[in-house]
Amino acid sequence: MAYIILIVVLAVLILAAGGTMLLRPRLGRRVPRARSGGDLGAGTGTGTIPRPGTDTTADTSGGTQTAPAPGAPTAPAEPPPAPVLEKPPPSAGRMMRLRARLARSQTGFGAALLGLLSRDRLDDETWDEIEEVLITADVGVTPARQIVTDLRTRVKVEGTRTPDEVRAMLRAELLAQVETEASRALRTQRHEGRPAVMLVVGVNGTGKTTTIGKLARSLVGDGETVVLGAADTFRAAAVDQLQTWGDRVGAETVRPDKEGADPASVAFEAVSQGIEAEVDVVIIDTAGRLHTKTGLMDELGKVKRVIEKRTSVDEVLLVLDATTGQNGLRQARVFAEVVDVSGIVLTKLDGTAKGGIVIAVQRELGVPVKLVGLGEGPDDLAPFDAETFVDAILGG
Ligand code: GDP
Repeated sequence: MAYIILIVVLAVLILAAGGTMLLRPRLGRRVPRARSGGDLGAGTGTGTIPRPGTDTTADTSGGTQTAPAPGAPTAPAEPPPAPVLEKPPPSAGRMMRLRARLARSQTGFGAALLGLLSRDRLDDETWDEIEEVLITADVGVTPARQIVTDLRTRVKVEGTRTPDEVRAMLRAELLAQVETEASRALRTQRHEGRPAVMLVVGVNGTGKTTTIGKLARSLVGDGETVVLGAADTFRAAAVDQLQTWGDRVGAETVRPDKEGADPASVAFEAVSQGIEAEVDVVIIDTAGRLHTKTGLMDELGKVKRVIEKRTSVDEVLLVLDATTGQNGLRQARVFAEVVDVSGIVLTKLDGTAKGGIVIAVQRELGVPVKLVGLGEGPDDLAPFDAETFVDAILGG
């Protein structure tokens, strides 16, 4: 009997050991599978691995969610998170911040003038050289002659010159040429319960779209609200580009409903939207195709007239590429004949040593340079400041 019991116990033990051996490989497969799913982060259908961008805290906080029954309609997808708006810096002091960039491009011209004026003997030949340096820097023939005449008189009156005196004399003369009576301030204040309206004009390629984008940022940085009107309706890429700039700082962009739509209707719609939303400023981009003067006149004239059905146009800014010299001045003349330009935006001043164009264009159009573009970065647009500009030329 005891012998039989011993055999039964042994048989039970053998069976139990065999069962464990059989189970072991199964467990061994399950553990690594679960781990590999986690490592890849690919979500193998277990529901425990978050998808990229999923808020994992949402799953654990509620605790009352139940899995949807098979075949039941799934909850609508969450809307994508709102884009994070950028906070651009205010416009004050920008030109000072960008002065190093200006100095890098302009000191060649300033240093040449200082060198010539510091010569022991200022003979006719030296004065001719001074005039040539000024003309090469795009100051323009008439202003260059004026500067030379003024400097000659000062040298005669003041006699001997230390390097500091030469510098102070040249600084005063250049400042006198760059400064204007007209205010350089942009009219961006709401009036009579309506937004300020700015029309931006200029030839394609001068940096018009970029300038409007930078300007919108700068206004937002100063605490203003902005609506953009993409009335350059023939350039789909420019419309998209403008909207991208606007989206980054929360400025609404009114777009044409189709390529080639009537620019005046887009401008009207943008102004109407600006009035309704009670924003501070509406900036309208316009066509930059210099096909014919009459074509341009018709188009810009119509845009302006249509806006004026709702409110006044407070600024007409002409965007001019500083690197284009005389050609740029010719374009400026055409635009000035077609619309009443109230301010000039001189772009790409970081890319040319010919900063004298500031003097030439102000004199040519009789309107002040209000803004300058000093780079491709989003905040590389600055309110123009004559003293900072002249000091950058003189490397001070
Ligand atoms: P648009 O055709 O007149 O609208 O010109 P865009 O705004 O598209 O600009 C043309 C090119 O000029 C782009 O590559 C801009 O980044 C560049 N640009 C615009 N303003 C400046 C500036 O102040 N400095 C430099 N270096 N490049 C600029």
